[in-house]
This record gives sequence, C-alpha cells and structure tokens, in this order.
Amino acid sequence: MKPVIALVGRPNVGKSTLFNRLTRTRDALVANQPGLTRDRHYGVGRIGPREYLVVDTGGLEPVAKDGIYAEMAKQSRQAIVESDLVLFLVDGRQGVTPHDHVIAAELRKAKREVILVVNKTEGYTHSMAAADFFELGLGEPETISASHGDGVRQLMDIACEKL
Ligand code: GDP
Ligand code: MG
Repeated sequence: MKPVIALVGRPNVGKSTLFNRLTRTRDALVANQPGLTRDRHYGVGRIGPREYLVVDTGGLEPVAKDGIYAEMAKQSRQAIVESDLVLFLVDGRQGVTPHDHVIAAELRKAKREVILVVNKTEGYTHSMAAADFFELGLGEPETISASHGDGVRQLMDIACEKL
C-alpha cells in the first residue's frame, strides 16, 4: 500500500496547483487502494523510488454549515482521516486568517502527522514568509511556491521522512 498524503487548507491557497506539480507526469486514475473513498481526487507522486498517493481536497471552510462548502469540508475531514500525512497549506501573501486557526486546531485534534506549508512565497525569504505562521502552533513552517516550484523538492523530502 502506498502512503497517503492529503492536501488540506482554505480554498485558493494553492492545493490544486501543488497537486498538479506533484502528480504531473503520473496517471491520476489510481484510487484502487483498499480503504480509500473513490470520490476524491487522487494522484501518484514519487520521491526517488518511493511512490505515494496524494489527495486533493476542495477546501476546508470551517464555518460552512450547509451547501457546497459544507460538503467540501466533509470531504476534507474524510481525507484527513484516511491520510498518513497532511500538508496544511496557507497563503503566504494573505497571512494568517481566522479560518487558518480553526483548521490548525482541528488538525491538532486529528492526531495525524502535519506539515504546515506556506505557499505563494516566491520572491520572499524563508524567514520572512514563515514568521507569521508560527502562531498556528504546528511547528516550523515550510515555505514553497507551488506555481514556480520553489521549495517543493525540499518539502517532499521532509514529507518522505515522516511517512
Ligand atoms: P486551491 O483552491 O487551494 O486548490 O487553489 P488553486 O491551486 O486553485 O490556486 C488558487 C490561486 O492561487 C490560483 O490563481 C493559482 O494560480 C494561485 N497560486 C497557486 N500557487 C501559487 C504560488 O505559488 N504563487 C502564486 N503567486 N500564486 C499561486
Ligand atoms: Mg483546488
């Protein structure tokens, strides 16, 4: 069985952009692994010889009570439950939002390995981009640019060590 990595975070933080980068050259029709729900978006990523499944999610909007956002939040929570590792993406240009805090609290309760990933940091230094996000209480943030590729290799090396 391949380890499962879930991409979680508010809408528009860059989850799908990272998903596409991680799975670019791989076949996305792979959700045959026992225990996984078929209605989520899975792809295969690889670090050296090691393959993992990566799960894209629609976006966790913690206050949504019904409608499309509530459905997306439910999907995200299920993806967290079936994952071995969560990459929690936040937006380095926007800074920390109240919803990021709610998601962080939820992830601390979920008892999963979590890496906090500050996206959209192209053109920023690591320390500048990371500084704001220590307050989420999830340790040292990794900084990446999903669209430019900066930091993604290092992020996935760290992810691999946690799997
Ligand atoms: P999702 O809703 O979390 O899946 O976010 P998307 O992957 O759809 O990205 C939302 C928006 O952020 C899009 O306009 C992306 O082009 C943009 N975006 C994603 N990654 C980056 C990045 O690393 N830097 C910048 N500047 N924009 C990004
Ligand atoms: Mg998306």
